[in-house]
Amino acid sequence: MAPEYQHIESRNTLRECLMRLIKFYAMLLLFCLASWVAQWPHQAAAPIKALRFGKLIDGAGKVFTNAVVLIENDRIRSVSVEGSSIPAGAEVIDLTRYTAIPGLIDAHTHMTYFWDQAPGTLPRSQPGTRAISTIPFLAQENARKTLETGVTTVRDLGASEYLDIAMRDLINQGAMIGPRMFVSGYGLQKARAAPRPGSVFSSGGQASGKVAVMRVALQQIEAGADWVKMYGSSGGFEDVTGNQTFSFEEMKAAVDAAHSVGRRISIHSYGPSGARDAVRAGADSIEHATDMDDETIAEMARRGTFYVPTIDHNRYYVDNADKYGFAAGSTDRLNDYIRRNLETARRAYKAGVRFAMGSDAVFTMFGQNTRELGWFVKAGMTPAEALATATTNGAALLGMEKSLGAISPGYYADIVAVEGDPLADIDVVINKIRWVMKGGAVVVSAR
Ligand SMILES: [Zn+2]
Repeated sequence: MAPEYQHIESRNTLRECLMRLIKFYAMLLLFCLASWVAQWPHQAAAPIKALRFGKLIDGAGKVFTNAVVLIENDRIRSVSVEGSSIPAGAEVIDLTRYTAIPGLIDAHTHMTYFWDQAPGTLPRSQPGTRAISTIPFLAQENARKTLETGVTTVRDLGASEYLDIAMRDLINQGAMIGPRMFVSGYGLQKARAAPRPGSVFSSGGQASGKVAVMRVALQQIEAGADWVKMYGSSGGFEDVTGNQTFSFEEMKAAVDAAHSVGRRISIHSYGPSGARDAVRAGADSIEHATDMDDETIAEMARRGTFYVPTIDHNRYYVDNADKYGFAAGSTDRLNDYIRRNLETARRAYKAGVRFAMGSDAVFTMFGQNTRELGWFVKAGMTPAEALATATTNGAALLGMEKSLGAISPGYYADIVAVEGDPLADIDVVINKIRWVMKGGAVVVSAR
């Protein structure tokens, strides 16, 4: 090739390169513009939400009039009063007719106990007639009814086949709508017989002896449980006997196992002796526990052990004794238990024991999760104190006091609108729920 041609050719190549470069930058600009536009709907789907309330009880001791709560994603950004600036483009939700309270915490449920009330079926036998894998799907009804009571968090104390873990995870993934769940897998139950020599695995939560108890408690945590639940006495449904099952040593083994991996433990005892040993073994909460002696109550106050009396649970059984097919005479025994349960709660309240609201809801009791608060007022609490058992106390029990149980900046946006003054009348919290937000999403619309 002659040198002059070479020169012309390189000039042509230079021009081509320049054109390509211009084309490339033009395409890049177009692409950037297109992706910016493509992001519009996404950005529009999650603006800041501004909630306006006539009154707001923040759960941390403050009451606001004409409050504005700003929500960013699943958290509370700020709590202030009307007149302070609402960011441009915020989605404003007008709830000025209502009073805001923190999302409530039910410290004792069995969310996976589902019954569809089909004629000729009983709540306790129906689950055995269907594929167990269908239960978490069906139990969404329990979850929905729970949200409708203003309960946005539950501690679920006992389920089969880790259905509770499945529900918790599905809810956290957004695949299912329901309260945030803290779950315990199988509740530990005293094995009727010692394990066969050489047998390694226990069935469900069955255990006997310190070593087996520790192993089964840790198995629940390894399976994904947040809590350990132990049945320290007989009693449940129409059975109100409270005979201690696990010994003090076995309870201590379960408590130590749970605490060794940073988890907490709840011990069920219908009667006083199981409760006495459970408190001294270091359980974090005591469920039911009728007829506790004064020393045990004083010890609970001293240690800060939570009491979850679940008084209303037996009221539900009395009301539904026929549906459950309870034997004649059951309601008398249940009513007597309720009376003693309330009396024990009264004494524990006077002694300064910390309470958490737990419904012990099963089957068709979902939707009545907060009726327990009425019993707490009967036991001597002010409405504010009763409300605290389902907000700040529930959060402290769960170890979530920095993100649940209050309407404060940085906390989860779990907020309930009620109609009326909950500090004057606890019935407002029980029966006048009008709107519920959980984690920044409206889960019960204004009604
Ligand atoms: Zn229970």
